[in-house]
Amino acid sequence: MTIITNNESETILEGKKLGQTLLPGAVVALYGDLGAGKTAFTRGLAAGLGIDVCVSSPTFTIVNEYDGKIPLFHFDMYRLENESELYDIGWDDYQERGGVCAVEWSEKVPGAFLTETIVVKIENLGEESRRLEISSGGGIQI
Ligand code: ADP
Ligand code: MG
Repeated sequence: MTIITNNESETILEGKKLGQTLLPGAVVALYGDLGAGKTAFTRGLAAGLGIDVCVSSPTFTIVNEYDGKIPLFHFDMYRLENESELYDIGWDDYQERGGVCAVEWSEKVPGAFLTETIVVKIENLGEESRRLEISSGGGIQI
C-alpha cells in the first residue's frame, strides 16, 4: 500500500490508523532517511494504541517504553555500533513481552526481523510531501 502525505499530521494519522489494527507482538520496521517522518509515524502508532504521552525519538537510549492497552517499545537503531548490540539490550525479550515494537533505522539491523514484520518505508519527496509504503516482510524465508 502506498500513501502520499502532505504534512506531518497526515503522517501521524496514517500511523494512528495502523496502530489501531496492531496486536500484541507486532513488529513495525521503519525505513527512511533523517527527517523522513519515522518518529512522526511512530507518534501516530502510539496514539492508535491508546497511548497519550508525547513520543520522542529515543536516539540516546536506543529504546523507550510506553504503557498502553498494548505497550509500545520504540527503538531507534541509529547509534547502534553493530547488530550484536541489539541482543545486549534484550531485543528477543522485548518481542515476547506482548507489546508492539516500532523500530527506527531498521536498515541497521536486517537480522532482527526473523518473525513476520510490518514494513514502513518513508521517502521524502520534497517540502512536506512524503511517500509511505506499507507492506509485510521479515520472517524466515523457506
Ligand atoms: P525521522 O524520525 O524520520 O528522522 P521525524 O519524524 O523526527 O523524522 O521528523 C520529520 C520532520 O519532517 C518533522 O520536522 C516534520 O515536521 C517534517 N515533515 C514535513 N512534512 C512531513 C510529512 N508529510 N510527514 C512527516 N513529517 C513531515
Ligand atoms: Mg526519528
